[in-house]
Amino acid sequence: MIYLDNAASTKLDEEVLTAMMPYLTEQYGNAQSQHAAGRASANAVMMARDKIYALAGCSAHEVYFVSGGTEAGNTALKGVCALRKKGHLVLSSIEHASLSESALDMQKLGFDVTFVQPESDGAVLAENVAKAMREDTIFCAVMAANNETGVIQPIEEIGKICRERGVFFYTDCVQTAAYLPLPVNCADAMGFSSHKFYGPKGAGALILKKGSKVFRLISGGMQEMGFRGGTVNTAGIVGTAAAYEKACLNREKVNAHIKNLRDKFLNRVLTEINGTRLNGDLNKMLPSILNISFDGCDGENILFLLDLKGVCVSTGAACAAGAVSPSDTLITMGCGASEAKSPVRFSFGKHNTEKEIYLAFEALKSTVEKIRNNGK
Ligand code: PLP
Repeated sequence: MIYLDNAASTKLDEEVLTAMMPYLTEQYGNAQSQHAAGRASANAVMMARDKIYALAGCSAHEVYFVSGGTEAGNTALKGVCALRKKGHLVLSSIEHASLSESALDMQKLGFDVTFVQPESDGAVLAENVAKAMREDTIFCAVMAANNETGVIQPIEEIGKICRERGVFFYTDCVQTAAYLPLPVNCADAMGFSSHKFYGPKGAGALILKKGSKVFRLISGGMQEMGFRGGTVNTAGIVGTAAAYEKACLNREKVNAHIKNLRDKFLNRVLTEINGTRLNGDLNKMLPSILNISFDGCDGENILFLLDLKGVCVSTGAACAAGAVSPSDTLITMGCGASEAKSPVRFSFGKHNTEKEIYLAFEALKSTVEKIRNNGK
């Protein structure tokens, strides 16, 4: 199998698994318990938190362990709404569903929501975010980079605009945490998922900067400084810290490796397969993601046929009840409906090799030719 869907999830790193193993086996105490087994778990969670805050450049009481990016985004958005009780939210129209659906839920409860569209290069303009803001704007969310196109967003500028207006700014760092430093100085809150950088699934962190007020989402025990009830996932937390540490320490090397694979693959696609188009501006992209449209092909067909050849990719388009609908992200970037139905997302990871990229390209080329020749 050639796995080019690393933006969806990654393979668990062996060293991360080794770090987690004791807490999946003999160290099973509840971190809240007042005995030696509990203390061992609590100690592991404390050390994990210490690692994250030191690497991220924030402080220990700003790091909350959660189940991943979905929970982090829900907590920030709904937590601000719960505290403020009414007001206006501004989100980019390309946010992950964990933010956009949360906003639509809040709209049903009486909050106003404005979605800001990206430009054709895939980036949202900070000035358009500023224009969308109103006197009663309480919350803004713009992701650090988009999960379909990999386009990095101008969050520093947007953070500044939010700060000047006293608007809470959340930035979803799920796709960037492995590749870029966390923007701890430009947002009030940010979140990530460990499984995007070779850590365990169902684990991640919400970083909530000091002074940023959010009503808690999950009531219960006093876990996570009383902010998130529920027995903590010790193994997941240990894995999160181990994976994040590895991602930070090896960032330059991994980024260079992935970028090399991406550039070789892209170059061949654009020069050797006619009617192809890269969606988004390459100069603004993470090294990990390519979103490419193929004239005359549905992304779903390409995905299906590549899957038969053992190559895992994904599409940006949503598939409901067998019908493929165009990608909202590409539509808002100004692509026509057929272009927005044809994209395939190739996402590269540290375990991929040049040989795999070569084989994946050959499989892609013959797949596209086959679809264009009506399956012959
Ligand atoms: N945000 C972005 C940008 C994502 O790509 C994803 C998952 O793909 C999420 C949030 C949600 O992450 P999780 O499913 O780990 O909660």
